[in-house]
Amino acid sequence: MENTAASYRVREDEVELETYQLQKLNQLLVFVLERNQFYKHKLSELPLPIRSLSSLHSIPLTTKKELAEDQIQYAPYGLNHSYPESSYIRYHQTSGTSGRPLKVLDTKESWDWWQACWQEVLQSAGVTSNDRLFLAFSFGPFIGFWAAYEAAKDAGALVLPGGGQSSLERLYSIIENKVNVLLCTPSYALHLAELAEQNGFDIKNSHVNTIITAGEPGGSILSVRQRIESLWNAKLFDHVGMTEVGAYGYSCSLQNGIHVNEAQFLAEVIDPNTLEPVQDGESGELVLTNLGRYGFPLIRYRTGDRVTRASNPCACGNPYSFFPGGIIGRADDMIIVRGINIFPQSIESIVREFSQITEFRLVYYTLEEMNQVRVQIEAAEDMVSDLKVRLRERIGLRIEVEQVESGVLPRFEMKSRRVWDQRANK
Ligand SMILES: [Zn+2]
Repeated sequence: MENTAASYRVREDEVELETYQLQKLNQLLVFVLERNQFYKHKLSELPLPIRSLSSLHSIPLTTKKELAEDQIQYAPYGLNHSYPESSYIRYHQTSGTSGRPLKVLDTKESWDWWQACWQEVLQSAGVTSNDRLFLAFSFGPFIGFWAAYEAAKDAGALVLPGGGQSSLERLYSIIENKVNVLLCTPSYALHLAELAEQNGFDIKNSHVNTIITAGEPGGSILSVRQRIESLWNAKLFDHVGMTEVGAYGYSCSLQNGIHVNEAQFLAEVIDPNTLEPVQDGESGELVLTNLGRYGFPLIRYRTGDRVTRASNPCACGNPYSFFPGGIIGRADDMIIVRGINIFPQSIESIVREFSQITEFRLVYYTLEEMNQVRVQIEAAEDMVSDLKVRLRERIGLRIEVEQVESGVLPRFEMKSRRVWDQRANK
């Protein structure tokens, strides 16, 4: 295991990043406007070539809703494909936490591109051929760690697939096979640690020294990361990706946020209301263009994720755009309570500061026609008032905290859902 923070691939040739991105974007657009029916209709008026990245905002945005409608109208796969059906070799679908799952197909070239993007993630976490990777993942249609599985082959690492196993079987496998790199969601890393404790597994002294998380923002929330690192006695690296756009970012040796792989993605941060770009240092919605996935291209895709682009480069030396704290929240999960915007991540970051709280859930509800939030916790009774005080100090709101019995709240393998929305009008 070595830390290769300085060995990421900055770009594929010697030209400046912006020139390189512009060239890739124009190549993609020329190809897509000729071959892809979805974008042919959508961008028919677009003058090419695009002369500068500063005119990127003149290209219409793409939304998940549009893709979903396209798949309903041209069922089952829609028109966002640039090749004949027989060229496609991989099928995945989104988790469907916000609406009907999207069906996403990749050609061999597009899937190789996914794999190359994941190689960056593994490289940033220092994975080499000496490592043994355990993928605590169900290997279903959700994209999850599929591309990691492929990329690990090129890193020369030994891969242990953890599909079709119970959590206990996974723990046995991790220990017995002397696995040193664990790939899973942050929630699942916590769940496995809880289970290890209950069953007398000494994971602190296991071979696991690196954890790569994906699927949820927790890996870049300081208190969540520190908790996982301390329970496992391992270093955590985060990764962000989406079925729709690809594996677009990863954390570096400094671990305090996410770098965008700008050789393969254009990342913009916009105001979700005006749709205009925001200044660096201000939060907004992340908009991504995948530059190398010709089989399923997305041009200016609204991710619904809120991020802040740092004004200065990250101290690790990686010059790619940096989002401190990773994904701050999702537009879908935000609730406004008495005028204050609350993201589940901000509550989670506070809850996780208390190691005595094993699990939690947020209940959104309506009281006298007003939005309210209640935090349910699995912990001893005395935690209730401590957490209440901390929430009030940090969020500036009185938030109700309710103690529930140990083990009653749901545990998650992929895509945790810790918001229970009981509101009358969602
Ligand atoms: Zn960095």
